[in-house]
Amino acid sequence: MTAIRRLLIANRGEIACRVIASAQAMGIETVAVYSDADKNARHVRMADQAVRVGPGPASESYLLSDVILDAARKTESDAIHPGYGFLSENAKFAEAVQKAGMIFIGPSAKAIRSMGSKSASKALMQKAGVPLVPGYHGAKQDNKILSDAAHEISFPVLVKASAGGGGKGMRIVKVADDLNAAIDGAKREALASFGDDRMMIEKYLTKSRHVEVQVFGDQHGNYVHLFERDCSLQRRHQKVIEEAPAPGMTPALRQAMGEAAVNAARAVDYVGAGTVEFLLAGKDFYFIEMNTRLQVEHPVTEAITGQDLVQWQLRVAAGEALPCQQDDLTINGHAFEARLYAEDPDKGYLPQTGTLHHLKFPDDASARIDTGVEPGDSVSVFYDPMIAKIIVHGSDRADALGKLQRALIGTEIGGLETNLDFLLGITETPQFQKSRIDTSWLDRLKAPKGRWRRVQKSTSEATAIAALHVIAKRGNTACLRAARSEDPFSPWFRTDGWHSIDLGHQDVRLSDIADTDAQHLVTATAHPEGGYDFLVDDTPVRAQLLDDGDVVIDDVRFAANVVSINNQITVFIRDLRYVFSFIDPASEGIDNTVTDGDLTAPMPGKITAVFVKAGDKVERGAPLIVLEAMKMEHTITAPAKGQVTEVRYKAGDQVEDGEPLVVFEAS
Ligand code: ADP
Repeated sequence: MTAIRRLLIANRGEIACRVIASAQAMGIETVAVYSDADKNARHVRMADQAVRVGPGPASESYLLSDVILDAARKTESDAIHPGYGFLSENAKFAEAVQKAGMIFIGPSAKAIRSMGSKSASKALMQKAGVPLVPGYHGAKQDNKILSDAAHEISFPVLVKASAGGGGKGMRIVKVADDLNAAIDGAKREALASFGDDRMMIEKYLTKSRHVEVQVFGDQHGNYVHLFERDCSLQRRHQKVIEEAPAPGMTPALRQAMGEAAVNAARAVDYVGAGTVEFLLAGKDFYFIEMNTRLQVEHPVTEAITGQDLVQWQLRVAAGEALPCQQDDLTINGHAFEARLYAEDPDKGYLPQTGTLHHLKFPDDASARIDTGVEPGDSVSVFYDPMIAKIIVHGSDRADALGKLQRALIGTEIGGLETNLDFLLGITETPQFQKSRIDTSWLDRLKAPKGRWRRVQKSTSEATAIAALHVIAKRGNTACLRAARSEDPFSPWFRTDGWHSIDLGHQDVRLSDIADTDAQHLVTATAHPEGGYDFLVDDTPVRAQLLDDGDVVIDDVRFAANVVSINNQITVFIRDLRYVFSFIDPASEGIDNTVTDGDLTAPMPGKITAVFVKAGDKVERGAPLIVLEAMKMEHTITAPAKGQVTEVRYKAGDQVEDGEPLVVFEAS
């Protein structure tokens, strides 16, 4: 038995943090690796040591197997955990780790190779008696053979790259006329993404569910499955919310799928954690692929079985027998995992980058949050924009769903657009609540734009809370100024409203972003017992901010959170958000409103359009320049009314992250 003393984690983000936590709990020392973009990342801070492996792009850092191996040698690590993605399913890397005398936390290179190609794995599974989706997975690739196969199984069919992953190189074909174009398109995409354009044809199973089985094998020939996960809630073939166990599963079907999955693992002498993915149509299930690594959604299995799968991986890799036998494993309750992404669901899930100025997760213990970021960290252009996984466990599905909704409501993010509202919106649909969904349900839903937004038109209550925040901030700034002035006790710096001149009135002007910038005037008069009497436009509101951060509005006390970034104020009340922009000519220097200066590229990319030239006068929000990055267009707009003083690039130019594009002066 080889005990692991020091483990290098060849990954980043939440999964690196997740692995580090389990290793540390087992008394194993941990070594992180990081790119320049991640030098202060959470996984780096959590690990006992951290080694730089290169610049931001993954192809120059996390994907460089030699550099990762060097880092392991240098730190005298005796094992490497690849996480998921990156090098986790790279057979050559697994081999190199072993050759270097270290333990690879995963299956043998041979098992990775057997399962790496969808077509080869289907051939193998056919031999092992595992049911397959009907179709063609042979070696011959001319269009005639693919087309004959499609006709034989009848349309609709799915053209699928055998080297595929992440939903790439896949086309649904409904009618024969579209087949050739789909094959050509899928081949082009597969060649570009995987350097391999071999195709398979599968019967497209409409209205099927994605149900996968977690399996585990050890080096002594033992196998178990840890039941199934339902990952049918997908957008564009990518998982969004996963759950365990699968709704509607019968004991007989569970046993049949579990046995099929274990047979699949046994067929390749599988060691470690693996996932056998099936499509389930009625009571029939069909193998689609096996993932030879830990899966993103493994926490739902951990929740219902009470096991720590990373700990299992480490023990099995060190040569121990599986910690449990099949009969020891039982399902307890129900679990969900929601993937929180920095992306805009209303803009085709456009990935967002930037700083997480405000990030708050529910503070009770009812949700498990797997994350790689903390407030103030940023989501960069280089990696997957996942912010966190929110995992809940309940006594049954309804209980777990309630917990998921509460956890999503209790999560607050400021600074970036995310899919948080979208996730909550999904959990509120009757179809999801009753589990009447299939893998293409979400794509068919065609939610009208903005359907998921929880940004509300302002109420007098929300406006008063935003005004309280502005006044409190004025107070802080005034204190700073007073401390620096000759007479720090000057009544001019008092902000409690008791000015000698105007009997303590303060005006706050706010405009409501969700209501086409409708302007609100809040007049505040300090109340002798604390807080303020506000007139929000013409509505009287009595408002007070308490020391613990609660607010009292007209005698009702509750928790509200306010976040201000530049001149934007977001008020969080329960599951709702209100967003104001703050306009106050008298408040110079109080809110660092971005108006003048350079407008910079939010990410590296190419300039595709320039709408202005030096000297142009523009209104707030006017489009200035368009940058294409991450395959999407980003329009840089005027932050205020003003004048363009310089345009530094022309269409076609390539720009770096943070590069000033336009110099702007607010009027
Ligand atoms: P990838 O490896 O790119 O993720 P998979 O083969 O795992 O591709 O399939 C991803 C998703 O695509 C599945 O979860 C399912 O929603 C859909 N899918 C794949 N094959 C089929 C099929 N034959 N019929 C219907 N849907 C399918």
